Amino acid sequence: MPELFVDGEWRAAADGGTRDLVDPGTGRVFCTVDEAGATDAEAAVLAARRCFDEGSWPATPVAERAALLHRTADLLQRDREEIAHTETTDTGKTLAESRIDVDDVTAVFRYYAEQALVEVDRTVDVGRDDVVSRVVHLPVGVCTLIAPWNYPLLQMSWKVAPALAAGNTVVLKPSEVTPLTTVLLVRLLAEAGAPAGAVNLILGGGAAVGPTLTTHPAVDLVSFTGGLVTGRGILEAAAPTVKRVTVELGGKNPNIVFADVDLDTAVDVVLTGVFLHSGQVCSSGTRLIVEDSIADALVAGVAERAPRIRFGHGMAEGVESGPLVSAAHREKVESYVAIGLAEGARLVTGGKRPDDPALQDGFFFEPTVFDHCDRSMRVVREENFGPILTVERFTTEAEAIELANDTEYGLAGGVQTADVARGERVAAALRHGTVWINDFGPYVPQAEWGGMKMSGNGRELGPAGLAEYRETKHVWRNTTPAVAGWFKG
Ligand code: NDP
Repeated sequence: MPELFVDGEWRAAADGGTRDLVDPGTGRVFCTVDEAGATDAEAAVLAARRCFDEGSWPATPVAERAALLHRTADLLQRDREEIAHTETTDTGKTLAESRIDVDDVTAVFRYYAEQALVEVDRTVDVGRDDVVSRVVHLPVGVCTLIAPWNYPLLQMSWKVAPALAAGNTVVLKPSEVTPLTTVLLVRLLAEAGAPAGAVNLILGGGAAVGPTLTTHPAVDLVSFTGGLVTGRGILEAAAPTVKRVTVELGGKNPNIVFADVDLDTAVDVVLTGVFLHSGQVCSSGTRLIVEDSIADALVAGVAERAPRIRFGHGMAEGVESGPLVSAAHREKVESYVAIGLAEGARLVTGGKRPDDPALQDGFFFEPTVFDHCDRSMRVVREENFGPILTVERFTTEAEAIELANDTEYGLAGGVQTADVARGERVAAALRHGTVWINDFGPYVPQAEWGGMKMSGNGRELGPAGLAEYRETKHVWRNTTPAVAGWFKG
């Protein structure tokens, strides 16, 4: 079956374009998919526009829209194993992680099925008996949804579930590197009963299809998750047509550890916070900011455990971490190791590809720790999206906060301390969209997710994640129209 989905039909690219997909765990091509060009992208946008302007989806009662999301959630669980295996082959992540992703995606669909039914329209008391004033909410229109390769299905679900719940029509654009679970999701949405044109899918390189999807006058909203440079470009591209644009652009996330913690627990939190999914997590805790008096012990603990993380193909039993997503991405991560070394950071562990002969074909990279870093270093300041932990030290609480906020990003941060009041104080002072106290990483569909500063604008998840996809309209009805007499002539 072809992989592009436009106006309710599966089709190949107009120019016959295809792309080979590579299994990051083996380095080998495992399938070939259709690859759209600008013509296909325009067809998808116009189909979404038609469905929105003439079609049934925006006018479908909200309870039916919610029911479709629930049916999709059921189907996601029915196909859980197939989807998880596909995600692992596409991204390299472990099967355990992929299964968690499918469950999280299911929860997101269920959450927005419920949230869609929450009444947000209201009447306003304008102080006049002859006026009925209502604030109502409508779908925005045609939404382009662009997702990255690290959590392909998960990140797409944060967009598509609220967008459809609110009555929008959508064009989905997954990363060209990891499109397969989005193809499966669109099949399930069609099976669940999404009308033709409500959901459209374009696979294709960002450079080829991105301009159409982000500048076309028929598109009302663009929601993007990915890198800062691409995100900036999309904000600029969408500006002439004044589209609504939300962007999630990653982070350079601090994890502050005070000396009063239990050391073994702190080592574990730091390790998981930075090395899960080989560091390919926008909220990964890459900057360890640790109180000087325990810094040596904490770094030694992390350096002792990091090399014991069990690497392998994501599908293999007992594997704790998979490879990086592509050869190109591993080269980028390696370039940051070279940058760190050149800047004088002290390499404590990792910094290279594993020696294990079984891991030579995949894009594996060892968990890496750089000690004695400072905030002027590029390896501390710039997102590399790999398994690299940098260590900075502090002596006072104020210094820790200053370091943690000294970044152009503001996505997430953590504070580890036994002192409850201090934990709350530091959390309040951090300019990051999510702050974990004595933890690092959890999220739930009910709570908003997003960044401050250059980590982005807008929010996903929670009620705000639905509000992004709604227009607000004020309707004023004069019940007894009469001459106002403002102009006397
Ligand atoms: P990009 O920002 O290039 O890609 C993210 C998504 O945007 C992909 O679907 C991509 O498509 C698409 N895209 C690329 N160019 C355009 C364009 N001009 N118009 C519209 N869409 C476009 O991320 P990369 O994959 O290149 O990764 C680069 C860096 O971004 C990473 O190293 C990391 O630092 C950061 N990143 C952040 C993520 C996050 O969660 N915040 C996730 C992934 C990456 P395609 O892949 O087909 O080109």
